Amino acid sequence: MMLEEHLGAQIKTGFILCGIKTKVYPIQLNEQIREETISCINRIIEDCDLSIVPDSDANEGKCSQCEFLNFCADRL
Ligand code: SF4
Repeated sequence: MMLEEHLGAQIKTGFILCGIKTKVYPIQLNEQIREETISCINRIIEDCDLSIVPDSDANEGKCSQCEFLNFCADRL
């Protein structure tokens, strides 16, 4: 959806890569998926506004080796 906004074009299929072996899941960008995505984004924004952080097992040992530490600052 961000790429659509960037390119000014409609994209009908996307891919989610996840898991240890980076499995690829094709996603049809239909109206339901778009609405769920926007709803999820809005809930994340609301949680950020309320400073609510989801449960995590992150700790100093994990965070200190995390590639996102410079951007996160969520747990430390
Ligand atoms: S730095 Fe942030 S993203 Fe990385 S392990 Fe810690 S909490 Fe998770």
